[in-house]
Amino acid sequence: MSSVTALTIAPKEMDYLRAKFRGYYREHLVPPRLLHEREFGFGFERKIEYRHKQFESAHGLQEFIQRESPFFISYSAAYYRYPGATPMGKKEPHGAELIFDLDAGYEHENHNPMLCTHCLNKVREETHALVEDYLLGDFGFSKKNLSINFSGQKGYHVHVDDDSVRSLSQEARKQLSNYVTAQSLDMDRVFVKQDLGSRKYVLRGPTSASRGWSGRVYAKARGLVERGNEEEMKKEGLSKKQINFIKENQALMIQNIDRGNWGAVKGLETVWRDLLQRTMQLKSVNVDERVSYDMVRLIRMPQSLHGDTGFIAKTMSQQELPTFDPTKEALAFSRTARVRMKMKEAAAFELQGESYALKKEEEKELPENVAVLLLCKKKAILV
Ligand SMILES: [Zn+2]
Repeated sequence: MSSVTALTIAPKEMDYLRAKFRGYYREHLVPPRLLHEREFGFGFERKIEYRHKQFESAHGLQEFIQRESPFFISYSAAYYRYPGATPMGKKEPHGAELIFDLDAGYEHENHNPMLCTHCLNKVREETHALVEDYLLGDFGFSKKNLSINFSGQKGYHVHVDDDSVRSLSQEARKQLSNYVTAQSLDMDRVFVKQDLGSRKYVLRGPTSASRGWSGRVYAKARGLVERGNEEEMKKEGLSKKQINFIKENQALMIQNIDRGNWGAVKGLETVWRDLLQRTMQLKSVNVDERVSYDMVRLIRMPQSLHGDTGFIAKTMSQQELPTFDPTKEALAFSRTARVRMKMKEAAAFELQGESYALKKEEEKELPENVAVLLLCKKKAILV
């Protein structure tokens, strides 16, 4: 019987993984831009155990990796004059990339904690919405300054690096991430009750020229009114009476909505507010805001390996994102070379296009990518 516990990797497996990781970096180390101005952090068991490391060149970074064999490599979003100095106050930052971190955290039936295709697809869709709707759309960042990478485990990271972003304050970064998550959106500023005196008022709201969140709710409401589809309106929670109201006053409403007058047909104020709320739920993107505003944080180095999976934190183009499949495209090792393994626990998952359902105590020859994943997840040992 093996004496390996569920929490540690035994020396034999550790040596195997270290050799694999070192071999990957010998061939595939991609040093980040302005490497010498970044702080580095490394982890062996946990993600970051050592930080405040600084390298003058890619050669220095490679030497360190070959000597120490870290399982996690992170770098600072911030650029420093003295990246290796401690405490933090002595580093002298002069700007930072803006980073959005999306992690899969969805509750659903049949979630697979080992490797969940459903969750991976969902977080990829959210990342795509973040890039298209917010970063390129509402914020107007330029494509060439965005870079997208898989996190190596469950999520995605988007880095924005241009002159306008580098100098953003922590507060400004907070506002940007709040905007994306719709945290700070004030409904009373999207729809405003304008007092006309003598107890009369109009409800002013988004117009055909509105952009951002206002533009989103405008498009949703106008579409709903224009199509006049009863089923669709019912799904949005409208009552029979409200639906009839809309159908009878369709043309008048469209005309007024386009000009920002949302009160032309009375009695629908709550409908518009509810619609805004649902738009916020549906369109907001679940980013980890701390990653965006905390400028001293370290983030996984793109193209490095993730120690909990052995997957590459792979960089991809915007065109590649919608169909990116980490279980095929983030694999670092051989698809064909076989390794004899013994399972410590049962595991079921899909990798490199094949389904695996492995039983406890089962012994099997498995492709290297599968072996590395199982070892990183502490589910198996080498035989
Ligand atoms: Zn899942």
